[in-house]
Amino acid sequence: MNVAVFSTKRYDREFLNAANASAGHRITYFDEPLERETVALAGEYDAVCIFVNDKADAGVLEALSRGKTRLIALRCTGFNNVDLLAAARFGFKVVRVVTYSPYSVAEHAVALLLALNRKIHRAYNRTRDSNFSLEGLMGFDLYGKTVAVVGTGRIGRVFARIMLGFGCEVIGYDKHPSAEFEALGVRYAQPGEIGARADIISLHCPLTPETHHIINADALSRAKRGALMVNTSRGGLLDTEAAIEALKSGQLGGLAIDVYEQEADLFFRDLSSEIISDDVFQRLLAFPNVIVTGHQAFFTQEALSTICETTINSIGEFAAGQPLSNEIMAQAP
Ligand code: NAD
Repeated sequence: MNVAVFSTKRYDREFLNAANASAGHRITYFDEPLERETVALAGEYDAVCIFVNDKADAGVLEALSRGKTRLIALRCTGFNNVDLLAAARFGFKVVRVVTYSPYSVAEHAVALLLALNRKIHRAYNRTRDSNFSLEGLMGFDLYGKTVAVVGTGRIGRVFARIMLGFGCEVIGYDKHPSAEFEALGVRYAQPGEIGARADIISLHCPLTPETHHIINADALSRAKRGALMVNTSRGGLLDTEAAIEALKSGQLGGLAIDVYEQEADLFFRDLSSEIISDDVFQRLLAFPNVIVTGHQAFFTQEALSTICETTINSIGEFAAGQPLSNEIMAQAP
C-alpha cells in the first residue's frame, strides 16, 4: 500500500518505520497536518494516516474522495476530528488505535495532579534560582480525598486504580456505567455528588457533541470550592473561558491540562520565538495554579510502539481485504 502519513515528527517516523519493517508498505511522511490546504498531497495514496489535530471534516473527505485514498488510519484513540458520516458517504474505511497503553495517559494525569497539588512546577523554578522559600507551595494530602473520574473506560479505570493506591475515595461518572469499574471496589456517584464532594475531578471521556463543554460555567459553579481539575482527554470537554473565570474567583483551585480546545494552532511545535496570539491560552499560562503540557500524555515508548504496530497492522488488514479489527463505524446522530 502507498501510505501518506500526515503531521509527522521524527519519533513518528522512527516508530512507524520499525513497525513497517516487515510489512513493507511504501510510506511517505508529510510534516503538514491534513486539512483543506494540504489534502491535495494525498491524491495518489491508498491510505492516509492522521493524528489528533488533523482535520478530516466533510470538505477534506470530499476532496480526498476524488483521489485514490480509501482508508483513513488514525494513529490515536479519539476520533472527534473525523466526520464519520461523511467518511461513510464517500466510501472510506476508518480505523483507529482502539487501545494502546491506558497507563501512559493515566500515569500522566497522576503526574499532573501531583505537580499541581504540590506545586512542583513552581518549586522546580525556585530551587534553580536558589530560592528555597516554601511560601505558596503548600498542598494537601491526597490520602482520604474524593476523586471523581468522568469517563470510566480504559484510561479512567487505570487512573482510578492508581488513586485508590493513594488512599483516595474514588467515585465515577459514565454514560454507560460498567461492572469493570465497580469491580475495582469503587462506585458510581449519586446525582450531584461529584459537585458536592469531589476534591479532584479528572476527565477521561471522549469528545462528542454530548460531552462538548461538559465542564462549563454551570458545572464549575456546582463544584466543591477549590477543587482541582485534570483534563488529559480532549480540550473541548472544558469551556476554557469559564475555567478562567472560576480560577480567578478561586472557585476552581487549580487546573492541569494536557489538551486544549484550540491546541491545533499551538501544540506539537516549537513556538518559543513566536508571539502567541491566543489570548485565552496566554491568560491560562499566567495563573500560578495552572499547568499545561502539550498533548504528551500518550508519549511513552510502549504507547508509541503499540500505536504504530496497530496502525501498520490495520493497513495490512485493509490491503489483504480482511475484516478491520479496529474499524470505527459511523453512527446515525
Ligand atoms: P474508552 O472508550 O475506553 O473510555 C471512554 C469512556 O467514556 C467510556 O466508558 C464511555 O462510556 C465514556 N463516555 C462516553 N460518552 C460519555 C458521556 N457523554 N459522559 C460520560 N462518559 C462518557 O476510552 P479511553 O481509551 O479510556 O480514552 C478516553 C479518552 O482519552 C479518548 O477518547 C481520548 O479523547 C483521550 N486520550 C487522550 C490522550 C492524550 O495523549 N492526552 C491519549 C489517548 C486518549
